[in-house]
Amino acid sequence: MRVGIVGAGQLARMLALAGIPMGIEFNFLLKKQDDNRCVEGFGTCYRLDNDTDTETLKQFAANSDVITIESEQVNIEYLEKLQQFCNIYPPVNAVRELQNRVREKQVLQDLKINTAPHFVFHSHAELLEKHSLLEFPFVIKSASDGYDGKNQYRVKDKNQLLALADKLPEGHAFIAEAFIKFTREISFIAVRSRGGEIRFYTPIENVHCDGILHSSLAPAPNTSDVITKTGQEFFSKLLNHLDYVGVAAMECFEVHDDQGETLLVNEIAPRVHNSGHWTDAGCNISQFENHLRAVLDLALGSTEHHGFTYMINILGKGYEQLPPLTSDTALHWYNKTTRPGRKMGHINIYGQNTSELKRQKDELYNSL
Ligand code: AMP
Repeated sequence: MRVGIVGAGQLARMLALAGIPMGIEFNFLLKKQDDNRCVEGFGTCYRLDNDTDTETLKQFAANSDVITIESEQVNIEYLEKLQQFCNIYPPVNAVRELQNRVREKQVLQDLKINTAPHFVFHSHAELLEKHSLLEFPFVIKSASDGYDGKNQYRVKDKNQLLALADKLPEGHAFIAEAFIKFTREISFIAVRSRGGEIRFYTPIENVHCDGILHSSLAPAPNTSDVITKTGQEFFSKLLNHLDYVGVAAMECFEVHDDQGETLLVNEIAPRVHNSGHWTDAGCNISQFENHLRAVLDLALGSTEHHGFTYMINILGKGYEQLPPLTSDTALHWYNKTTRPGRKMGHINIYGQNTSELKRQKDELYNSL
């Protein structure tokens, strides 16, 4: 069996590392300028010469039994061409809906899944006209090309709004969204098979700084049954609606106020996710293996976890700057060229006791 992955970054690497022991082989589709260091030695690289290089797309598809993606920021036209020759999971339509924040919010709204109050705008005039629909502060996000907090702006008051309005490009779709005073951020990772079976990993508590994930703790401590049930219901509704196949992540804000606990869905990633890297250490079957099982139509694996796992991202550091490993820590280094803020690797720390785990996480974090 040969899986074709569109992309060759760390998620493609982790998928390959999960699949190779299962006897799965891999193809990677890269753009001309893409680096293949993450996947070097793990399969065959197909490099597109330009945007109209249909021949390479055809060869990549013809030599793959199934195609999947490692990023939703993918050219949908490539996927449409590829699916003429090979099955693609998750389905192209699911990727199309979820790669654009406006369409994503619309699907969530249609399915009555809670999100932050928001409005869509395409011009300065429309932003200034609609801004009073939200109170300050609020957040502006571009509809596309916005991951890890990129193309995202916080607006505290009218002066900031006017200054920002001048800078935003005209004719592009944006979302203005209420700034949510969340108690914490929590994500759900699910896998859905081709036959429609859904399995969930335990909810995960995430800490982001400047829009980038810094750490994840699983299981998210003190998660109420209401939060778990609401999240799983929202997510099942969405995955079934999209006839989704593979692993996906749903990032949420948990809010505690006078009305009790609520969950607002922030974003859905149609792929394996950074907040699921802990499953490599904390579960019998990782998110990566389960994604491969789903897209290859194999039986899904157990999503049960054991103990607690902290995942810490290593951002912008070189290998020589890493602290020494201890007996409870596992390093995954992505083999990328170091750049400030770039995700270079992650460390999983596991144990049975959250306060001891937190102490180890802080120690590690401070030494990075
Ligand atoms: P996103 O690119 O939408 O995943 O946002 C990245 C991070 O920015 C989130 O994980 C939050 O930490 C923060 N953020 C995004 N949207 C909001 C919001 N409406 N209210 C408060 N924080 C937000």
